[in-house]
Amino acid sequence: MTNALDVVSLRAGYGAINVLWDVSLTAETGKTTVIVGPNGAGKTTLLRAIMGLVPVTAGDIRVNGQSRKGAKTWDTVADGVVMIPEGRMIFPDMSVEDNLMMGAFPRACRAGWKRNKAMVFDFFPRLAERRDQIAGTLSGGEAQMLAIGRGLMEQPRVCLIDEPSLGLAPVVVDEIFRILGQLRADGMTIILVEQNTSRALKIADHVHLMQSGKVVLSERGDAVDLDRLHALYFAHDA
Ligand code: ATP
Repeated sequence: MTNALDVVSLRAGYGAINVLWDVSLTAETGKTTVIVGPNGAGKTTLLRAIMGLVPVTAGDIRVNGQSRKGAKTWDTVADGVVMIPEGRMIFPDMSVEDNLMMGAFPRACRAGWKRNKAMVFDFFPRLAERRDQIAGTLSGGEAQMLAIGRGLMEQPRVCLIDEPSLGLAPVVVDEIFRILGQLRADGMTIILVEQNTSRALKIADHVHLMQSGKVVLSERGDAVDLDRLHALYFAHDA
């Protein structure tokens, strides 16, 4: 089967500051690919480069085998690739429901918005209860659910999810990982960036460790040697 996403020898950064050096990884269709690594390793930059939000200076990005390097962000979204930022990136002055509607903004999603909203409310009953609440008053966990819900409104085939457990209490992290596990069981292709390595490994089909803008370890989720992963994780110059 064609991979949902291939990142091939990617080099990208911010103007004169290069961040990603020759990064290659694949996300198999219907699988969960986890990217771990210390602060500043370039994980978020990688997701942003895939979405066309950071300039790519070399290499390629393929969606379902088709090169999408240089594609505009809206074209990537139309291809079914959606980035779910961490929960503080919701629209704080808008209601829960209006935030979800923003997720239905891409033209391809408008026809199905009622069905998608019903699906999101089924998935997150807490959001249904709070549909009229101003999003800025949600708890951290609810805001993260809203960020995921807004992404699901875009009818994604591939979800790039950036640090969904960031700053959340352990019991809320449990809930977020339960939801990710459910998405995975439903066959969603997921690329998950997480600092919570042990939790992320439990739902990982494939794991990539990034260090200083490079992928320094790529393994199947069930074959990861935690000692080796941790040794590389904490190495200053891997
Ligand atoms: P974290 O877990 O802390 O978010 P990360 O692995 O996601 O780390 P990035 O956020 O991708 O890392 O950052 C990688 C490098 O790129 C860092 O050195 C950071 O300072 C730099 N960087 C990030 N955003 C910008 C920007 N807009 N302009 C310039 N440099 C940036």
